[in-house]
Amino acid sequence: MKEEATLDCPWARQALTVERVSAARLPTEVGEFHIAGYRSKTSGEEFVALYKGEMNPEVPTLARIHSQCLTGDVFGSTKCDCGRQLRRAMELIEQEGRGAIVYQLQEGRGIGIINKIRAYALQDEGADTVEANERLGLAVDLREYRQCAEVLFDLGLCQVRVMSNNPLKLRAMEEAGLRVVERVALEVEPGEAAVHYLRTKKEKLGHLLDLVE
Ligand SMILES: [Zn+2]
Repeated sequence: MKEEATLDCPWARQALTVERVSAARLPTEVGEFHIAGYRSKTSGEEFVALYKGEMNPEVPTLARIHSQCLTGDVFGSTKCDCGRQLRRAMELIEQEGRGAIVYQLQEGRGIGIINKIRAYALQDEGADTVEANERLGLAVDLREYRQCAEVLFDLGLCQVRVMSNNPLKLRAMEEAGLRVVERVALEVEPGEAAVHYLRTKKEKLGHLLDLVE
């Protein structure tokens, strides 16, 4: 078991395309964490890791790739469940005493905050989240998760218990070489405004959501 885990861990033999720039303590309302800043070596993209406890490649560890959602994470928007998922993930990590969140700085599935607000304006007129992006001529999902997975490797993880409802993120972690041991559902009671959005994510983007009919 021990040898197998080491062999399955590609960071031991593969050069990472992200680099850690700095790390520090970060006390939060949820608990005591560490924060690290990463830079892509192949683009201008930056990543932030929030983590807690010993990062051990042989221990299946709670992990999440969280995509930036200014409206949900900062303003508490009820149009989506991002802010509450992030909070829930931090709480689970705090309870376990171990885990990591990679915060991907790609607003609105990669379209940027201005386009996201334009999409919201179309949604005010009745379009759903996928239709709105299509009408703006934007790809539905521009995000790439490979380097987020590399941040998890760099933190020292090989086996993850993924906190995500997004099958694309699960697949990206596996393709990057992380062993996905478990999927930990992060369902939060959706507010009324979020129900339509979540139904669209389930029906059009294949998210694994049981609470939404
Ligand atoms: Zn959101």
